Amino acid sequence: MVMHVLLVEDEARLAAAVRRVLEEEGHVVDWVADGADALTQALTEEYDIVVLDVMLPGLDGCEVARRLRARANTVPILMLTARDSVQDRVRGLDAGADDYLVKPFALAELLARIRALTRRAQMPAGDPLWLRAGDLELDLRAREAVRAGRRIELTAREFALLEVLMRNAGQVLTRSQLLDRVWSYDMLTESNVVDIYIHYLRNKVDRGFEQKLIRTVRGVGYALRAG
Ligand code: CA
Repeated sequence: MVMHVLLVEDEARLAAAVRRVLEEEGHVVDWVADGADALTQALTEEYDIVVLDVMLPGLDGCEVARRLRARANTVPILMLTARDSVQDRVRGLDAGADDYLVKPFALAELLARIRALTRRAQMPAGDPLWLRAGDLELDLRAREAVRAGRRIELTAREFALLEVLMRNAGQVLTRSQLLDRVWSYDMLTESNVVDIYIHYLRNKVDRGFEQKLIRTVRGVGYALRAG
């Protein structure tokens, strides 16, 4: 599938290299070099993914992500960060990014991350189209979650976490299993990213409902209530 990619990067040479490799894969790339343009562009056009540098003139990448999420824009965001510190990564994820890549990175790694975040385009035939648990439904094709008839806005990463919990409803998953399946590489193992995302999901999925679907199994991990 041809993807429409918004590339936000102020280093022209890096932007040109990323653009070239994406176009070679057959994707359509729009490139902007500052945060304000990125925000305007992402809110005007529909993209399959935004590749977003953190250090930008004007609005920085975290602020762009935050403002997009504040407007309920759920486009997958892959953040590019020059600094390999847990604090910056968590800051990006808190701002609403779905994943991040530390510079310098291999272009093959960038492509792999983009593929993982846009998996909706490569769903194998025969996979279920829907997952259900109680009054919660997940439309895997449209990437939509609905509880009791009300649509829930989820980021790509939140959706992926909920999907894993729903596919294994009634089963306890440890933090490391969730890290492994949702983040699928060695990321932030030193931090509490799973707990942070469970917290986000609870706010969106369980808040206001008497029946809580997401269960904490103390000392073990998390489980989604089946049925
Ligand atoms: Ca930059």
